[in-house]
Amino acid sequence: MNDDLDTCFDFAVVGNGLLGSSVARSLSELGARTLVLGAGEPESDSGEEQVYSSHADEARITRVADADSVRALLAAEAIAMYEDIQERSGMTFFTPCGFLAIAEGSQSDWFDSLRNSAQNADVRLVAKSGEDIESDHSLRLRESSMALFEQDSAGYIHPRKLIEANNSLTTSLGGVLLREQVVTISHVSGHSRLITRENKTVRAKKIVLATGAFTESLGIIPPNVVVRNNTYVLGRIGPDAAASLKRLPSVIFRSSDPEGCFYLLPPVNYPDGNTYIKIGHSEVGQPIENYHDIFSWFQGIGSEQVAQRLKELLANFFLDIDFLELKSFPCVTTHTPSGYPYIDWWREDCALLLGGNGFCAKSCLGIGEIAAEFFANGKWNKTYPRSLFSLD
Ligand SMILES: Cc1cc2nc3c(=O)[nH]c(=O)nc-3n(C[C@H](O)[C@H](O)[C@H](O)COP(=O)(O)OP(=O)(O)OC[C@H]3O[C@@H](n4cnc5c(N)ncnc54)[C@H](O)[C@@H]3O)c2cc1C
Repeated sequence: MNDDLDTCFDFAVVGNGLLGSSVARSLSELGARTLVLGAGEPESDSGEEQVYSSHADEARITRVADADSVRALLAAEAIAMYEDIQERSGMTFFTPCGFLAIAEGSQSDWFDSLRNSAQNADVRLVAKSGEDIESDHSLRLRESSMALFEQDSAGYIHPRKLIEANNSLTTSLGGVLLREQVVTISHVSGHSRLITRENKTVRAKKIVLATGAFTESLGIIPPNVVVRNNTYVLGRIGPDAAASLKRLPSVIFRSSDPEGCFYLLPPVNYPDGNTYIKIGHSEVGQPIENYHDIFSWFQGIGSEQVAQRLKELLANFFLDIDFLELKSFPCVTTHTPSGYPYIDWWREDCALLLGGNGFCAKSCLGIGEIAAEFFANGKWNKTYPRSLFSLD
């Protein structure tokens, strides 16, 4: 066996996603000998039941403005860490292009809650009219749209790069990264034994499960967690359209019709060499019952009905852009009853860090730090109550 692995780690973090890589880095920074085990991204046509990720994409919106004030604080704390993590890892994962909350018609309650939560987190939002948006962001909106703009703290992150940044800091601190899927966890004489799909055995005193939607594949069913399906659409654009939209921020659009609410990302370059605008719906998807069905969902192209609606919303929103191709993709979000991730002990030696509730990409660095303090030292130094993140 690899010498690095032939030790009993203080912590084994299962899942090298946004939350897992973040808590592993923070645990290493606290001096814990940490192993992080993360399955790679499966080939979509492999046919095998491997675990998927909710982050396997090129961009996630980041913003403090949120109708939920605790989520706004979580985001603000995490965004304040971006610069330091980027500098120390040498990996840039944040594009600070700003965030526009756009409302069609009157959405004064939404705007009020965004303003209040941003103010509470010391972030200023600027009101913009349709004319301001056209002159500042080269985006022509239909009449009667109003917007709030968040500047420096907002934009989008590149999730895969953020994970790489975490991993490089974890390993530089003596942590170990094993890119393999854990298939069995058992408890043997004072420690846990984890066996990977590639048949490696590792040992740890404590385990953190940051396994996202796939925790059930380990035979562990976290209480009251619901995994919901999600569909998004990528619209391919050419270089001229990309240039014309270079001042576009990340956007959340709210209309009085729930089916007309969506989020979108500005033009982002993807690994296939093309530039895409991503659009997704704002409402939560349908529950998926079990691990096998989650796996099948990831093997498809999402919901055709939702994709059709998103394609129409995209075409309707951009009055001056021709899309060269529109394609849909599946994803899932993992939900807890409180709407915040679980940061809690499930058993004496096994903690849960999961339940992104659709918002945790931007906040993962801060949530990982809170979780590491709690799991390693039993501390909770936050103004928001721990009960929001507990299992009961
Ligand atoms: C389409 C879409 C758009 C989103 N947009 C945003 C956004 O704009 N802004 C935002 O803040 N959030 C957004 N989110 C939410 C965000 O992506 C999630 O909250 C976040 O990915 C959750 O992180 P996680 O670490 O819990 O799960 P994941 O990122 O899914 O990571 C879990 C990891 O665990 C691994 N794993 C599972 N089981 C095992 C095992 N047995 N052994 C080894 N590894 C295992 C998986 O392979 C995976 O890599 C979006 C989500 C979706 C689906």
